[in-house]
Amino acid sequence: MPSPAPIAAILAEIRAEHVALGSRPVRLMEICGGQTHAILRYGLDTLLPTGVNLLHGPGCPVCVTPGSYLDRAIALARRPEVTLCAFGDLWRVPSDRSGDLFAAKARGADVRMVTSPLQVLDLAAAEPTREVVFLAIGFETTAPANALAIQLARRRGLGNVSFLVSQVLLPPAIRRIAGAAGGPDAFLAAGHVCTVTGEEPYRQLAAETGRPIAITGFSPEEILLGIAAALRLLRQREAHPEVPAGLFNAYPASVHPAGNPEALRLIDDTFSVCDQNWRGLGLLPASGLAIRVEFASLDAGRRFPEAAPDYPEPIPAAAPVSSCLADQILMGLALPTDCPHFGRDCTPLSPLGAPMVSAEGACSAFHLHRRR
Ligand code: SF4
Repeated sequence: MPSPAPIAAILAEIRAEHVALGSRPVRLMEICGGQTHAILRYGLDTLLPTGVNLLHGPGCPVCVTPGSYLDRAIALARRPEVTLCAFGDLWRVPSDRSGDLFAAKARGADVRMVTSPLQVLDLAAAEPTREVVFLAIGFETTAPANALAIQLARRRGLGNVSFLVSQVLLPPAIRRIAGAAGGPDAFLAAGHVCTVTGEEPYRQLAAETGRPIAITGFSPEEILLGIAAALRLLRQREAHPEVPAGLFNAYPASVHPAGNPEALRLIDDTFSVCDQNWRGLGLLPASGLAIRVEFASLDAGRRFPEAAPDYPEPIPAAAPVSSCLADQILMGLALPTDCPHFGRDCTPLSPLGAPMVSAEGACSAFHLHRRR
């Protein structure tokens, strides 16, 4: 934990920047669910001046994985020859039509929990009569490890392993949220994602959307530094509207301006950019990664084309008010406490929607830290 002195100094800077903005209401969105949990766990939002409001963004990989993808995964798991492997955080996420992975396992499907995509390669080698399928989901942070597993599977000549991919790219989602009515004034970008991508995609995004972006870490001190930087960028933007909105790297200990070239090369060699469905945000152009055709035999989507087809997610406006508000929450348009189900019939033990299931989900964070 940082000492109180720097926290007090950063809070003073935040107050000064807010005063320089006329103490008007300002909306900042932290993109990453890990940041949301840290904010609520340490009560950072309660330390901010009145008028500096934090919105909680779509940066929880499990929350944005479409229900239709999980339907497809469960359809695969029902095949007698298939062993389906997934990280633990995906198991209780409700699909659109088929329940969850726990239910699929209870009905007899061979579903196994793994902690690394490389573990899946060992499993495939040990059980050559099984068709081993890994659910490869996540943001730019998981893409390098999944790409490495795909490359190694081919190098090792494994013919019985494949990957059902739902990899998403954050900049198109931020672009969509920035363009929505009532959207944030500025963003706190996820430091671990930028460790892979570097600064440039976010510099372009800030200039294009007119919304300043501060790349932010995950400790209380780092998050407050990001908030101070976002307010400073916002003030500079308003003082000089002729200058494009700026980017500030408030997490330089981890984020190199050029990102991680080796990880980026692995991603580019293995995946191509594709349109992607997001739970809550719908179909976003060029917001996903698909396995390149050179690795087609390792692509579970191509290997088992008869599994349930993908289909678009409902757009936020189409969601009935009485249902799960996950879509509005992922857009920063509602708080978990706005949902009539929150803490009543929707809890981490019996979640109705993905933001309550995942450890990184906003509903889970509010339930853990703000229920009372
Ligand atoms: S509390 Fe439950 S039902 Fe409400 S938005 Fe969150 S996940 Fe959905």
